[in-house]
Amino acid sequence: MDYNIAVIPGDGIGPEIVREACKVMDQVGKVFGHQFQYTEVLMGGCSIDAHGVPLTDEALETARNSDSVLLGAVGGNVGNSRWYDVAPNLRPEAGLLAIRKGLNLFANIRPAYLYKELMDACPLKREIIGEGFDMVIMRELTGGLYFGARHTEEVDGVMTAVDTLTYNENEIRRIAVKAFDIAMKRKKHVTSVDKANVLDSSRLWRKVVEEVAKDYPEVTLSHMLVDNCAMQLVMNPGQFDVILTENMFGDILSDEASMITGSIGMLSSASMNESKFGMYEPSHGSAPDIAGQDIANPIATILSAAMMLRYSFDLDAEADAMEAAVQQVLTEGFHTGDIYSEGCEKVGCSKMGDLIAERIRK
Ligand code: NAD
Repeated sequence: MDYNIAVIPGDGIGPEIVREACKVMDQVGKVFGHQFQYTEVLMGGCSIDAHGVPLTDEALETARNSDSVLLGAVGGNVGNSRWYDVAPNLRPEAGLLAIRKGLNLFANIRPAYLYKELMDACPLKREIIGEGFDMVIMRELTGGLYFGARHTEEVDGVMTAVDTLTYNENEIRRIAVKAFDIAMKRKKHVTSVDKANVLDSSRLWRKVVEEVAKDYPEVTLSHMLVDNCAMQLVMNPGQFDVILTENMFGDILSDEASMITGSIGMLSSASMNESKFGMYEPSHGSAPDIAGQDIANPIATILSAAMMLRYSFDLDAEADAMEAAVQQVLTEGFHTGDIYSEGCEKVGCSKMGDLIAERIRK
């Protein structure tokens, strides 16, 4: 089949890591008989340089008309870049918010997987790590406390700030459906995380999630309070498959989960809308400190591209092949500098892409 992918290299290491992801996808195309067409889109600092804004309407339209979007990262050195002496809505990262909003990407998916080869980088004790962990955090991205009405005012001579946490049942239902759909492609367990012992929004969350669960008889559902989940992630991370949660809880828990993998250069992510359309990007930023040196780790971006094949295009075997190739390269002892340990062979960004592409098998 033919797939039309909008590719946003962005800034810093973005172009280097996206190049490697496309290299691996091209090899997948050769081996499995697909054609991936790329349309390059400017976003972030490079768009400011070219057009004066971090995302043009035309760029957004190109992304919207594609089958899916692959993003590197945007942004520069916040302290000393010409991109930052402007209003916040004209900075590189504003492009990110604009594209998420413009494409209605309400579901954020972040896997946290521990490779055996990287266990030493995991801050947890070996007896807690056990056989490792492989989970996905499904975070609602466009509602809740971060988007509710807020104000600060003086009440009876005391400064008082108010933030509002609102969810309606439709917002909860659509993210729950996404979580159950993804659980169907995994170990078929959803842990819905809330604070239903205190919050009305969480009680509605729980009720709607239970309704959605009825349409997925093969998936088991359990509920967990957010404070307990924060503890369970560092006490027994192996118990989780898909964690489904609202915006702020997901913000915190997904960072906690990524920390216990111990390697920022390995973490993929996706943001999806109601259809199968998504924007796929590494969890890390543009790493301007190492840009242009061919030392960045492209694996997070390559794994993000694998997520695209799995979740947007339903190409599960092709995604499996990409993930297996990454695993094989690590097992053979090839590591980029950020995940280097003694006894491994240190390779650069482009070489890592070559090695993974060479190991794509049907
Ligand atoms: P960062 O993730 O870019 O870098 C943090 C540290 O991790 C740096 O030392 C960097 O060298 C290293 N690192 C990150 N990715 C790596 C990789 N693939 N391989 C090897 N090492 C890697 O975070 P930061 O330094 O806080 O931010 C840099 C810029 O990125 C800022 O302008 C920030 O706003 C932007 N940013 C963009 C996104 C995005 O586009 N989605 C996300 C986060 C930050």
